[in-house]
Amino acid sequence: MSDRINIRGVNFCSISLPGAVETLMSYLKEGKQAALYTPNSEIVQMCIDSPELYDVINSAEVIVPDGIGVVKAGKILGTPFEHGKVAGIEVGEKLIEALAGTDYTVFFLGGKPGVAEAAVEKLSEKYPGVKIIGCTDGYFKKEGAENDKIIEKINESGADVLYVCLGAPAQEKWIFANRSRLTNVKLLLALGGSLDGYSGNVKRAPKVFIDLGLEWFYRLICDPKRIGRMMSLPKFYFGTIKHKLTNK
Ligand code: UDP
Repeated sequence: MSDRINIRGVNFCSISLPGAVETLMSYLKEGKQAALYTPNSEIVQMCIDSPELYDVINSAEVIVPDGIGVVKAGKILGTPFEHGKVAGIEVGEKLIEALAGTDYTVFFLGGKPGVAEAAVEKLSEKYPGVKIIGCTDGYFKKEGAENDKIIEKINESGADVLYVCLGAPAQEKWIFANRSRLTNVKLLLALGGSLDGYSGNVKRAPKVFIDLGLEWFYRLICDPKRIGRMMSLPKFYFGTIKHKLTNK
């Protein structure tokens, strides 16, 4: 459906935000099950460090670059992303907007207790007509009986679209392991902390930070604990330059 751009082994789509929503809607109409993943450079670096993760990440039908590091890598490698960064949180919201005029139903999985409920309330108010028919928090054992119960709950809801917001790469692993058991779900979206954003729990960076490609920096100031995770960024960046110099 769209051209692919290979960034250090991850097969991204070269697609815009509206293009991603349109693609997801067409999968939904076809009734074919599809997943959306939105990796940033931290996840690509995780794949490089643990290659068994490539199968999980590349299993999604739609993969968009949700990070300035991946977009920069595209430039370095000579395969630029025409549309730049595509933020998962925005794809998720635009999809809700598109679904509001349809009969398709949605289920939210993830976040701390109460967060998904607040997200449902906020989005239902903002996009009247959207049918978010169920939700549950993301703090459960991701295998065994507890996991079976969650699958059962989602299946019983009959939801067509599932937002999976468990943090990366746990959410991608969960989708990879469980998608075939989700009998009615056609679309699965791995969207990290998006429910926190929709609920108003966590504010997104001001537009000026987003426009300057500094959203990561804003998140770091707000939550200095992220520093450990962000140490992978220079590793990814310099590794990509080395990859370019030695492989071509
Ligand atoms: N989370 C969850 N279950 C877990 C661990 C985390 O539902 O077992 C949620 C957490 O509450 C948060 C989201 O996953 O809402 C992760 O957010 P973050 O911004 O860290 O996402 P990432 O950057 O990993 O995509």
